[in-house]
Order: sequence, then C-alpha cells, then structure tokens
Amino acid sequence: MEKMLSIAIQKSGRLSEKSLDIIRGCGIEFGNDARVLREVADNFPLEFLFVRDDDIPRYVAEGVADIGIVGRNEYDETGLELEIVRDLRFASCRLSIAVPRGSDYKGLKSLEGKRIATSYPRILGNILRDAGVTAEIIVVSGSVEITVQIGVADAIADLVSTGTTLRMNGLEEAECIYRSSAVMIARPGMSIDKKETLHRLLERIDAVMMARKKKYILFNLPKERLDEAASIIGGMKSPTVTPLMDPGWISVQSAVDEERFWSVFESLRAIGAEGILVMNIEKMTE
Ligand code: ATP
Ligand code: ZN
Repeated sequence: MEKMLSIAIQKSGRLSEKSLDIIRGCGIEFGNDARVLREVADNFPLEFLFVRDDDIPRYVAEGVADIGIVGRNEYDETGLELEIVRDLRFASCRLSIAVPRGSDYKGLKSLEGKRIATSYPRILGNILRDAGVTAEIIVVSGSVEITVQIGVADAIADLVSTGTTLRMNGLEEAECIYRSSAVMIARPGMSIDKKETLHRLLERIDAVMMARKKKYILFNLPKERLDEAASIIGGMKSPTVTPLMDPGWISVQSAVDEERFWSVFESLRAIGAEGILVMNIEKMTE
C-alpha cells in the first residue's frame, strides 16, 4: 500500500528550476525551502529528494528514489538500464567534438590516434567504436575546454548549448555527435501502487507539456470566411464558433500549434480576421 512515489531532482543547477516548474504545473504543491534534502508534497503522494544530478540515475537504480529527472547524457553515461518514461524537452544540449580553431576536421575519422578529453567517456567511446575510430579518451570531470590549451588533449567532446565557452578557449565546434535533453527516468519493477501514482503524475505532465506546445486563439471573422479559417487553423477538431450581434460576423476560437502560430496569424489577417486575441494554455488533454 505504499503509494508515495519519491522523485530525485537536481538540488541546484540547470535542471532544478525547470524540473520544479513542471511539477508545479501539475498542481502539486510543496514548500520552497531550497536547503532541505527531502520534502513531501502537500497534495500529492510525492516525495522530493534534492541531490546532485550525477547521482540521480544510481539512486533510481538502487531504489533510493523511484523516479528522477536528469539529462539524458548523465543517464546514458552511467550505462544503467532504467526506463525513460518521458522526454521533458528542456535543458537541451549537444555533445560535440571541438577542435582547435582552424583545424582541418573531416569527420570522426580525423580523430584516429588522437587524444580526446571528455566527461562522457562511455557515450564518446560508443560513438567512436561505431564509427570504427580508435582514439585515446582522456577522462576529465570538468573544464574540458581548457585541456587542449594546456596540452592534455588534441580535441574534446563536450556539452554545448551556444558555443561561447569553446570560442573563448580557442576551439571551434566541429561536429555534433549526440543530443540530450532532460528526461524522466523510472526504476523498473515498482509496486503496483507506486506505478499508479506514477501514471497519475505522467498524465498531468502530458497535459502540461501539451499545453506548452499550443496557444489559444480567439478572433472575429466575416461569416463567409469560416471554411478558410478552419483550414488555416487545421489540427484538433473544428474550431468553436459563436455568433456575434452583427449577423455578418462570427467569433472563432481554437488551439493552435505554437510553432505554426505566426503563419496562422498572418493567414487569418489576410482573410479578414479582426481583434485576434492570443492566450497561453495552462493545461490541456487530447
Ligand atoms: P551538479 O552540481 O548537480 O552535479 P552539474 O554542474 O553537473 O550539476 P549542470 O551544469 O547543472 O550540472 O547541468 C545539468 C545538465 O544540464 C547537464 O547534464 C545537461 O544535460 C544539461 N545542459 C544543458 N545545457 C548545457 C550546457 N551548455 N552545458 C552543460 N550541461 C548542459
Ligand atoms: Zn553533475
């Protein structure tokens, strides 16, 4: 009857705030004391464990926590076999090969026989092996980008999101070899009760993530343009249509994919839509 699910979340770092944002978006309330190690939610059977991200996969594997939010890179690097239950799509970054600026890089084979510094030896090792390249992997736990300047390595494989740090160290990004974002991992073999709690949590997370991908749009339209508007909006079911006082006009509302938003907006303007109102959606189901 142990329904309480424990979740490991990074204590402080790039994942912390956004991990908690998603949980909050699920309507789960908890205190805001960043110094505590453990904390139980007020209105959902969820216990938080705030730890270093590197430890999250192992804690989940050992049952210290049932689930965790961690970068896919950290998870893959451990080689542990857990379940990835959701890709949460934040903290996106890439693992890239970087070489001294101006090098003549022609793909992974250029790394044959070279020394490559990284904090991700397992991921890099697998990629090099698949490419049939033999290189020496130098494992460093931080400041990978300085290893070339100090003569420890010939190239590096490091996480990049903008590339600024690389440039500051005389390097340039040569090739992205792996992509990562935050994922939710779970321990296989949880009790039925815990699985049920996880299922409830995932349903809420899906609703939050779906809502983030959409905008809600509301506008007035000359009645005879409705068919055109419906085809511009596309997706979902038909838009909701309400009559207006003026018999020639209607009010239309619908959810629209965030990524298509501007093209939809412009096309609607072009068919005479007026008073376009756009709103964020808080939660949504299919
Ligand atoms: P901790 O103190 O918990 O060990 P950390 O310094 O190892 O923290 P962060 O720098 O907070 O970790 O990064 C956590 C995760 O954020 C990374 O594992 C990666 O998945 C993701 N990430 C996104 N962008 C970047 C980036 N530019 N550099 C490094 N990690 C990034
Ligand atoms: Zn870490």
